Amino acid sequence: MADAKYDVLIIGAGIIGLSTAMHLLQGHPNLKVGIVDKNDEIASQQTGHNSGVIHSGIYYKPGSFKAQFCVEGRASMVQFCEDNGIDFNPIGKVIIANSDEELARLELLHERGTANGVPDLQLVDSDKLKEIEPHVVAKRALWAPHTAIVNYKEVTQVYLNRVEDTGGTLHLNSAVRSIKRGSGSTVVKTSSGDYEATNVVNCAGLHSDRIASMMGANPGVKIIPFRGEYYTLKKESETLVKGLIYPVPDPELPFLGVHFTHNVKGYVEAGPNAVLATAREGYRKRDFSPKDFADTMTYMGFWKMASREWKTGFMEMNRSLRKGLFVRDLQKMIPEIKSSDLGGGGSGVRAQAVDGSGRLLDDFVIEHTEGSVHVLNAPSPGATASLVIGKRITTLAEEAFSLN
Ligand SMILES: Cc1cc2nc3c(=O)[nH]c(=O)nc-3n(C[C@H](O)[C@H](O)[C@H](O)COP(=O)(O)OP(=O)(O)OC[C@H]3O[C@@H](n4cnc5c(N)ncnc54)[C@H](O)[C@@H]3O)c2cc1C
Repeated sequence: MADAKYDVLIIGAGIIGLSTAMHLLQGHPNLKVGIVDKNDEIASQQTGHNSGVIHSGIYYKPGSFKAQFCVEGRASMVQFCEDNGIDFNPIGKVIIANSDEELARLELLHERGTANGVPDLQLVDSDKLKEIEPHVVAKRALWAPHTAIVNYKEVTQVYLNRVEDTGGTLHLNSAVRSIKRGSGSTVVKTSSGDYEATNVVNCAGLHSDRIASMMGANPGVKIIPFRGEYYTLKKESETLVKGLIYPVPDPELPFLGVHFTHNVKGYVEAGPNAVLATAREGYRKRDFSPKDFADTMTYMGFWKMASREWKTGFMEMNRSLRKGLFVRDLQKMIPEIKSSDLGGGGSGVRAQAVDGSGRLLDDFVIEHTEGSVHVLNAPSPGATASLVIGKRITTLAEEAFSLN
């Protein structure tokens, strides 16, 4: 006997799961929607450990989901924050370039961002850059004045308030243990009880491939966890950074490179790097999960990726262990920064989907089959674009669940 029955059960109370619940209930007020999450609070994983940037959509290949979702996502996120009294700050961002190669990539980013419709994007020279970021030294920069910062945990809480106000139910401390699909209904066994659902949406982030497998779907990818570590600028050094300062990213990698971000709580973070984590929720270097580690090590896609990317992986690991190397990369943006300017910081773990050929998937991957939708890759700018993604999943669910 199930503890509760739902038309749609969403697994994962991160920013994507709760945005989806909110949009489903907005469009279908009579739907019985439940959300389960294994932890004792919402937004406890990627959503609660990110850089808090409302990205403007510069980097992404025109036509990709990232490009489509991010520009619209930024505008809708800003509107949502204004409508709901959520504190956000349009602090602006520079992407800086020095070498010839970086300058060429910066031009490309300008073209991309313009093609994607990023508002007021400009290439600026070193004098103008000095006015925007007095401590940064670079030949040229791309200036995105509307890039903003926000606390995504707060945004997710407002999504939850909307969900609960419109009849949705959240079950915390409910880790999904197994899923049994029958004809027309699915029983999801969790650590807090069994839930019967006509349809299931998998928004389980770092565990989304496992949830898909439990449902008998072949996800075609494995989640490989990459920890991103941050330092925090000491109070007296915060004046070195006015807004958001980024390097030109390596086009071969899905990560943006270590950068400086102001936080809405008032402090400045430097990071994150990207090191292989030995646990899917491995926020500390010493965190180790035999199951997660074995899952990574026995995956052929991991070894194919490792054989291609070993140099980058080694560099990232080295920089993670040696603060001096981290500082050296930060000095490429702000030459006067010193190791003593940096204090301890936090970390986040990215759920990076890697396919069997070892390719790190760069774009959002959302699959649907009859009765289920699976979010298999939701990288940055997933938080920025969460309203658009929730709407998109709702459209897919309407089709897959015959809701209209
Ligand atoms: C270091 C870092 C920096 C980032 N910076 C930015 C940024 O500045 N701007 C931006 O737009 N995006 C950023 N992102 C990306 C963004 O954070 C993610 O795209 C977004 O949070 C994904 O949300 P989610 O709901 O899919 O996943 P999550 O937030 O990870 O939520 C998944 C939920 O599923 C639950 N769950 C998992 N397994 C189970 C199970 N078996 N049973 C029950 N519940 C389960 C988890 O407890 C969790 O609450 C960053 C990400 C990282 C990691």
